[in-house]
Amino acid sequence: MKNTQIINEIDLIMQKYCDGCFVRTQLRKDKGKSIAHQFCIHSCTVGEEIKQKGEKLQ
Ligand code: SF4
Repeated sequence: MKNTQIINEIDLIMQKYCDGCFVRTQLRKDKGKSIAHQFCIHSCTVGEEIKQKGEKLQ
């Protein structure tokens, strides 16, 4: 798959699920950006999907 296609797919996922995500907003407020980022990567299925797509980038 081409990089541009992967990036477009990631963009779409983020627009659909991450824009205005309440969990991230709340975690950032309560525990800071780093913890919120860790949650997205390790504990959210959306974040996991984004990570997997990102790993295909060349
Ligand atoms: S990865 Fe999950 S928790 Fe993080 S912003 Fe996206 S939907 Fe919200």
